[in-house]
Amino acid sequence: MTHAAIDQALADAYRRFTDANPASQRQFEAQARYMPGANSRSVLFYAPFPLTIARGEGAALWDADGHRYADFIAEYTAGVYGHSAPEIRDAVIEAMQGGINLTGHNLLEGRLARLICERFPQIEQLRFTNSGTEANLMALTAALHFTGRRKIVVFSGGYHGGVLGFGAKPSPTTVPFDFLVLPYNDAQSARAQIERHGPEIAAVLVEPMQGASGCIPGQPDFLQALRESATQVGALLVFDEVMTSRLAPHGLANKLGIRSDLTTLGKYIGGGMSFGAFGGRADVMALFDPRTGPLAHSGTFNNNVMTMAAGYAGLTKLFTPEAAGALAEKGEALRARLNALCANEGVAMQFTGIGSLMNAHFVQGDVRSSEDLAAVDGRLRQLLFFHLLNEGIYSSPRGFVVLSLPLTDAEIDRYVAAIGSFIGGHAALLPRAD
Ligand code: PLP
Repeated sequence: MTHAAIDQALADAYRRFTDANPASQRQFEAQARYMPGANSRSVLFYAPFPLTIARGEGAALWDADGHRYADFIAEYTAGVYGHSAPEIRDAVIEAMQGGINLTGHNLLEGRLARLICERFPQIEQLRFTNSGTEANLMALTAALHFTGRRKIVVFSGGYHGGVLGFGAKPSPTTVPFDFLVLPYNDAQSARAQIERHGPEIAAVLVEPMQGASGCIPGQPDFLQALRESATQVGALLVFDEVMTSRLAPHGLANKLGIRSDLTTLGKYIGGGMSFGAFGGRADVMALFDPRTGPLAHSGTFNNNVMTMAAGYAGLTKLFTPEAAGALAEKGEALRARLNALCANEGVAMQFTGIGSLMNAHFVQGDVRSSEDLAAVDGRLRQLLFFHLLNEGIYSSPRGFVVLSLPLTDAEIDRYVAAIGSFIGGHAALLPRAD
């Protein structure tokens, strides 16, 4: 494998992509006049220019040039219902018929709150936000005030929202809280550092599986160590389940048998509308009780009727606990097939993850933290992305794969076949397994 050969393959992929997508390119250039990089959401940008997605139906997407794709990214996990579930559409229309922007407590928010609390038992009470980012900001704020402390433990490679991203240290756009960034999945270091800074620590914030870093499951002993250390020093354990709540009927933490003090939610739970929520122990959430608590929590759209209605319809009619379990099993089966394929082909490539979320990595051996991926050649992920587009599969340039309810078994087979043809077609460029 030579650097030049990978560069050449990528240049060819860019050229084919550019030739095939003139309407997307025109849209990109026109939009860039008013939006920097034509973009309002950094994750959606890739070179040479991103596709413009014109419409979606079921688990299918069409771009501005009319190409059809099977959707294997599903709005980075918010799109579990696909693009046109009648149950969601009807709920939103019904909510609109009752009038939007009601400026009051409404009839729809309480039943969604109850449903979520019943589904995720560690959440005794909750409040709604508009995004997972806000949910995490509010959970951290609650922890700071509840404990009267300032330090927040997070983990390298963690992503908790647009202003809460971490590499080895906080990202440039991360809010200037007093963060202590520790290595992920290192129970010993976590125990030692939490004990060392104990009286200063308000919260330990962690994803039970790191999503944005590449679907890296948290080891049960690591997550359990966080539970024990947080309790020992009087800090609150905050599980960010914005992505992972879909991975088991009652969320991933529940499956692992670890009870957090606070939990944050987002993505699909709002039925595909803007959504976030934070909740947990009633004594902590009481901070926000306007009758008795010291803290305000505002947000014009927190209880907007469309989200409240779509969320309820989605969780009761479509993504029930049983459906969540079934989708997770489907994902486990897919990941096993993909990993068997990589092993049979003898390439240093694997899919990590849990249930319906997984990520392709061009590396051998255990992936326990984002540091284990540091040496991976990012150009290979791009080559895979463009190969999948050619095969009619829309995924993510970072190799993230997300299953949704309307994806068929035939489409899943097509995805596996596309990985097979990628490996076959790029054999000379891919690292070999030992
Ligand atoms: N937390 C995790 C684990 C996420 O993956 C994300 C988004 O990808 C967020 C929080 C932020 O959610 P939102 O994009 O709704 O602000």
